[in-house]
Amino acid sequence: MSSERTPLIAGNWKMHKTVADAEDLIQALLPRVSTSDGVEVAICPPFTALNAMVDSTRGSRVQVFAQTMHFAAQGAFTGEISAAMLSELDVHGVVLGHSERRALFNETDKALAQKVAAALAAGLTPILCVGETDEERERGDTERKLRHQIKEDLSKVAEAELSKVVIAYEPIWAIGTGKVATPHQAQEAAGFIRALVGDRSKEQSNLVRVLYGGSVKPENAQELLALADVDGALVGGASLEAESFAAIVAAAG
Ligand code: PEP
Repeated sequence: MSSERTPLIAGNWKMHKTVADAEDLIQALLPRVSTSDGVEVAICPPFTALNAMVDSTRGSRVQVFAQTMHFAAQGAFTGEISAAMLSELDVHGVVLGHSERRALFNETDKALAQKVAAALAAGLTPILCVGETDEERERGDTERKLRHQIKEDLSKVAEAELSKVVIAYEPIWAIGTGKVATPHQAQEAAGFIRALVGDRSKEQSNLVRVLYGGSVKPENAQELLALADVDGALVGGASLEAESFAAIVAAAG
């Protein structure tokens, strides 16, 4: 973590929590993270709980992010949500390109390039997820995969806006598996991603935040968050409980 970049700890709730469950969780979480200065805290509830969570977190340090969106402003896209619909709710940002969306819902880099640009144009902070599969790492293709995703997904972002995007390095083999990347692997990949941004703008690469995601827990958070190029965490399972999520936030403070 560098002192020029404010760490961000974001909890991805995925398809968990009804509005009532979300209320319980946020009420338990707010007092536990209220004193964590110098850390940004975000929750990513399902669409149905966004409105309630924006209301419940107003005036607190907790930001609310959606988990996906469509790139079009409006249209015949049944079931989809636009950037304007999210910003109207006062949502802070949106997770884009999570590996589950890429793998299960065919989210492509071409679509993501448009989504990242549409989110920024609507004043939303995108958290762009990138990462390699087990097989890609095994055959030495991690850097090639990251280079491809970063190049494509940020292709419509102007140089001066690059640091408005938060990039989450999420090795797919570490998501929800309990198999966390070693500090060496996490630092190597986060540093590589920063260097890729640096190929477009050195200045922006010093500002852009790179998170690590993949089985982050209170027990391993401190060593991951201490890495030079890791500026926070995208947390899945451990964000569903106030105590464990607050412990990860505390590790970033
Ligand atoms: C995620 O879904 O982005 C994630 C990192 O999940 P987990 O922390 O459960 O591995």
